[in-house]
Amino acid sequence: MTVYLVGAGPGDPALLTLRGAEVLANADVVIYDRLSVMSLLDLAPADVERISVGKQPGEPRTSQEDINSLLVDRGRAGQQVIRLKGGDPFVFARGGEEAAALAAAGVAFEVVPGITSAVAVPAYAGIPVTMRYSSTSFTVVTGHEDPAKGEGSVNWDAVAALGGTVVVLMGAARCRSICDRIVAGGMAPETPAAAVQWGTRPNQRTLRATLATLADLDPQPPATIVIGEVAAADLAWFEKRPLFGRRIVVTRAQPQAAAMAAELRRRGAEAMELPAIAFEPPENPDRLAHAAANVGRYDWVALTSPTGVARFFEHLHDARSLGGVRVAAIGPGTAAALADRNVVADLVPKQYVAESLLEALSDEVGPDGPGRVLIPRAESARDVLPDGLAAAGWDVDLVPAYRTVAPDPAPDATALLADAEVITFTSSSTAINFTDTYGTDAVPEVVATIGPITSATVRSLGLEVTVEAAEHTVDGLIAALEDFFTC
Ligand code: SAH
Repeated sequence: MTVYLVGAGPGDPALLTLRGAEVLANADVVIYDRLSVMSLLDLAPADVERISVGKQPGEPRTSQEDINSLLVDRGRAGQQVIRLKGGDPFVFARGGEEAAALAAAGVAFEVVPGITSAVAVPAYAGIPVTMRYSSTSFTVVTGHEDPAKGEGSVNWDAVAALGGTVVVLMGAARCRSICDRIVAGGMAPETPAAAVQWGTRPNQRTLRATLATLADLDPQPPATIVIGEVAAADLAWFEKRPLFGRRIVVTRAQPQAAAMAAELRRRGAEAMELPAIAFEPPENPDRLAHAAANVGRYDWVALTSPTGVARFFEHLHDARSLGGVRVAAIGPGTAAALADRNVVADLVPKQYVAESLLEALSDEVGPDGPGRVLIPRAESARDVLPDGLAAAGWDVDLVPAYRTVAPDPAPDATALLADAEVITFTSSSTAINFTDTYGTDAVPEVVATIGPITSATVRSLGLEVTVEAAEHTVDGLIAALEDFFTC
């Protein structure tokens, strides 16, 4: 087997290479340190062994010799070993020493390069490390050694004399003496300089100054320092995303929570998944099976959630039996779930609530009067639709398709919620389950809901609603959050 020295990239988990993801997917053991990206561990099999060797507060750092022996031992044991490192494994990451130890021990290894923070962090701050004519080289230098103490092997005079762009890694703590030393080497004190903290992450922060003044801004690690004409470039894009840096809790069930979190991240938010709802089969699943097998007897099937669609189609063995039946969807999410199964909804009401669906179906009554309607949906849900249809003379078959349950509290929830700024509720059940599990005090400052029904529930729990989606869909909720934070 092989030991893989894998670059994890600078922080944004999407900046892992395809090869990195491929070898992680088959890992037996992942050995990682603090700057490698924790969420990438999710790409490894669930039962993978995880070994942290980084410096963690309150834990001693594993020595490089011990890391080398660990890699050799695990490699010899025939395991697929992933040594995950921040950025690129061969850029100020001691990957060279690890590879040498493996080579000396005769253990096969592969290097999977990563996107180095030296280039990617400035890029996320809108700073290109080269520019035609004005910045024709970039020098990446370690700030680990303190120039003021006269120690170390960096030739700062040569670095200053070369001009172009100077990128300093590991230099935040010694920013002042490094900048002073470069000025002493002959670079103009008014040369633009920037420090990018936590680059490529939702908490990225760019400090812009000059060589003379950067240290006054007190950059904090991890930071990438960029010195040169390019540091004045104003090409910010990442920090300008509409939800940049917002810490938003998603309470939907999985896998919908992951999809919504991904959408929020695309807009720059730090999305935290804390599902407050999960779906289980109903008490009596045979009823749905029976209704689906006899679906041809109905005039309409009315679906009120993507989960209802999923459960109904699990029981529909022959698509042709839907042939003469018309299909109604409460909103675009449910219609999309139908479309995924190659069924185009005959009816989607203008407002995505039960009242509107009731009204729209009432408009569909033909000369023969109201027909038979099948409603496969959550075991406990509002009665507006079935009661209203029955009162209007429809023959209503209300069939439980799934049960919603509150999942066990997440172990990391308290820390996560203390940090959060916004919580999103996409249904009344998520709001009720969340407050039952974590209490109303745990609710972050900004509460955002998908629509008026959920808002009413939230208020009945004694909470205020800050943002309510005008369009009652997940996309509508995200758009409402964007409006709220950009106005
Ligand atoms: N192998 C890594 C560098 C390791 S040295 C790479 O190729 O990127 C660690 C230094 O990298 C930090 O002190 C900091 O200067 C820089 N760095 C790493 N991640 C960073 C981030 N997200 N934002 C800013 N700088 C970062």
